[in-house]
Amino acid sequence: MPDIAAASRGLYVNGSWRPSHSGRDIDVIDPSTGKRLTRVPDATVEDARLCVEAAAGAAPSWRATPPRKRSEILRRCFELMIERSEMLATLISMENGKALRDARGEVAYAAEFFRWNAEEAVRITGEYGVAPSGANRIVVDYQPIGICLLITPWNFPAAMATRKIAPALAAGCTVILKPASETPLTAYALAAIYEEAGIPPGVVNVLTTSDPGSITSEVLGDSRVRKLSFTGSTGVGRHLLAEAAKHVISCSMELGGNAPFLVFDDANLEAALDGAMIAKMRNAGEACTAANRFYIQSGIYDAFAEGLRKRMAALKVGSGVDGQTDCGPMITRKAVEKIGRLVDDAKTRGARALCGGETPSGAGFFYPPTVLVEVSARSEMAHEEIFGPVAPLYRFETEDEAVERANDTEYGLAAYVYTGDVARGLRVSSSLEAGMIALNRGLVSDPAAPFGGVKQSGLGREGGQHHGIAEFMEAKYIATSF
Ligand code: NAP
Repeated sequence: MPDIAAASRGLYVNGSWRPSHSGRDIDVIDPSTGKRLTRVPDATVEDARLCVEAAAGAAPSWRATPPRKRSEILRRCFELMIERSEMLATLISMENGKALRDARGEVAYAAEFFRWNAEEAVRITGEYGVAPSGANRIVVDYQPIGICLLITPWNFPAAMATRKIAPALAAGCTVILKPASETPLTAYALAAIYEEAGIPPGVVNVLTTSDPGSITSEVLGDSRVRKLSFTGSTGVGRHLLAEAAKHVISCSMELGGNAPFLVFDDANLEAALDGAMIAKMRNAGEACTAANRFYIQSGIYDAFAEGLRKRMAALKVGSGVDGQTDCGPMITRKAVEKIGRLVDDAKTRGARALCGGETPSGAGFFYPPTVLVEVSARSEMAHEEIFGPVAPLYRFETEDEAVERANDTEYGLAAYVYTGDVARGLRVSSSLEAGMIALNRGLVSDPAAPFGGVKQSGLGREGGQHHGIAEFMEAKYIATSF
C-alpha cells in the first residue's frame, strides 16, 4: 500500500520537504467516497520564490552534468518507477479514482518517458554547414532553455508530469512542477523517487497550491524562468498564454480535445468496437484523447450501436482500487454534474440512451457507462469535452460528410478512423484536422511519437524523437569563418 503520510509530508523544494508559508493545507479527496484522504500544503508566492531560487541554484551544475550522467539518472528513475509500479498505481487510483488496470497502464506509460529520454539525452546533436555565400560556416548548438514551470492536470497525475520532467532534465533544464490540486500525492511520491535516483536538490521542485494564478504570475515574472509547459483545459491555456506573453516566455500547450471516432461501413466491426472501448473508456473517458463524437456510417450504425451497448453495459463500475473495477468514479461531483447536464441536453434534443444516462444517487462521484444514439449535431456534447463514460453516436452517409463533421470543432488533438480500405484510411487521415490520428487503432499515445494538437488543442509536441526535448532547448547559431 502507498505511504500516504510520506506522499503528503510537505512541499518538495531544493531537495527537502517543508511546510508552506501559509500554514494552510489543501484537502485531497477520495472520489469513490467523497471523503478526505489526507491534506497537502497550500503554497504561497513566498514558497514559489523559494522554488525559483532552488531551480536557479541547481541550474549551472545540472546543465554542466555530462549527458551520459544525466541519462543514467533518468534511467534509474525509470527502473525505480517500474519497481514501485504497484504502489504508484494504487496511489493514482486512490486520489484520481481510475481503475487499477488503467493506473497500472499509466505508470508503465509514465515510466517510459524516463527510459525514452534517458536514451535521447545522449543524442542531442547540433548542426554544421557552409553559408550559401561561402563566406562563413554556420554552427548551431542546442542549449537548455532555462528554468521551466510545468503545470499538469489531474487525469494522468504521473504521466503528464514525467512527459515534461524527463525531457526537460534530459535537455539540461531545472524545473518547478505544479500538479493539479486534486491529485498531488502521485507528484510527491514521484519526487521521492527522483531523489532516490540521484536527481540533485533543486533540479526538480514540486509545490501544491489553491491559488495557481498568483503562483504562476510570480514564477513567470522572474526573468530567470524561460519556459512554461502546460497541460490542461483550453480555457486555462489561453489565460496562461496571455500571462506568458507579458514576459515573452516560450510556451508548450497540451490542451483540450473533442476527438471524432469515424467508422465506415467497410470497417471490421469487432475491431472497431474493441478500439471504441479503448478510445472511450480508458480512464473512464477522462482523457484528452477520449473519443468524444462517434460518427458511424449508416450501413453499420445499428450493429455498432448494439455491440457498443453490450460492451458498455457489461462494465463493472466501482472504486478504482478494487481490482475488479472497469470504470471508476469521476474526479469530482462537479464533473458528474457536467456530464449529467450534457446528457440531459442531448436527450432533450432527441437522443436515446441504450444504457446508462442517469446520474446515480449515493456516495462517490460515479456516472454509469452510457451509449446515446441519434444524437443531434446541435447537442452541447458535440462541441464540448464530455470527459466521462458517455459515447454519443451520430449517423453519416458519405466520406466527405464524415470528414466535414469531424472537423467541425475548434479542437484538433486526436481522431480515430476505422475502415477496411487502406486508401480511404490514408485519405481521411490526411484530411482530418488533428495532431494525431489512430487508423484502425483505439490508442495513439506513445512516448516515442510526437504527442500534441492543432487548432485550440495546443502548441508544440511532447515525446517523439526530437520533438519533446526540442521544446526545452534553444538553438544558438554561431557564425564563424572556419
Ligand atoms: P485545468 O482546470 O485547466 O487545470 C490544469 C492545471 O492548471 C491544474 O494544475 C490547475 O491547478 C492549473 N490551473 C488552473 N487555473 C490556473 C491558473 N489561473 N493559473 C495557473 N494554473 C492554473 O484542467 P484539468 O481539469 O485539470 O484537466 C482536464 C483538461 O486537461 C481537459 O481539458 C483535458 O483535455 C486536458 N488535457 C490535455 C492533455 C493533452 O495532452 N492535450 C492531457 C491531459 C489533459 P488546480 O488543480 O489547482 O486548479
